[in-house]
Amino acid sequence: MEKEKLISNFNQVKENIKAAAGRANRNYQDITLLAVSKNQSLDDIKILAEAGINFFGENRVQELEEKNEMLTAENITLDWHFIGHLQRNKVKYLMRMKNCKMIESIDSFRLAKEVNKRAKKNKREIPVLIEINIAGDENKFGITPEKAEDFLKKITNFDYLKVEGLMTVLPYLDDAEKLRSYFKDMKKLFDQLSKEVIPLKELSMGMSNDYQLAVEEGATIVRVGSAIFGEREY
Ligand SMILES: *Cc1c(COP(=O)(O)O)cnc(C)c1O
Repeated sequence: MEKEKLISNFNQVKENIKAAAGRANRNYQDITLLAVSKNQSLDDIKILAEAGINFFGENRVQELEEKNEMLTAENITLDWHFIGHLQRNKVKYLMRMKNCKMIESIDSFRLAKEVNKRAKKNKREIPVLIEINIAGDENKFGITPEKAEDFLKKITNFDYLKVEGLMTVLPYLDDAEKLRSYFKDMKKLFDQLSKEVIPLKELSMGMSNDYQLAVEEGATIVRVGSAIFGEREY
């Protein structure tokens, strides 16, 4: 994409976040905009990186590794969040990447255990979020809200995981009030777990079509792809 267009898209999303935060009496600086660059070109990532943008999200290990290698070769080091379904046999590659700064999508105990093991091997701690299947959608990964408390209690025992919060991916819906009610359910769960188990700080929710609603309802990380980069090409 043209440089001007890409940067103006990014700034527009920032403005929209600011406005949504204002409507909810929140400080917009408490909200991180993660640029989701999956299936987007390295050139576009570089344009944003040169403009000082540092937080990016990818959902496939191999694609992330390839992009990171090429960028590193050009002395560009970005902070990456892994946001997709993570297979256990790929965890070792991810944990080798020092600039993979968070795994947002812990969706099973076996995965948490493997991430802990590989983090230990690499002598690091890794911040993680628990993916919650808030809509109970059969096609989505994630822990059901009913099991979230037990799951959180279990994985806080892992020494090399820093459990920082919750993440969710909502089904694609046109119904804004339905989306809002799922975001409200997430915030309620987040507050409840923070009070009863351990203090949580990150609530990752909202994508291109619903991040403004998510900010109004308490998101601290929004993951935005196509509203910045344009439609993905597959
Ligand atoms: C692709 C993806 C996004 C971004 O989606 P857009 O609709 O392009 O903003 C956010 N979160 C996850 C987990 C994704 O896989």
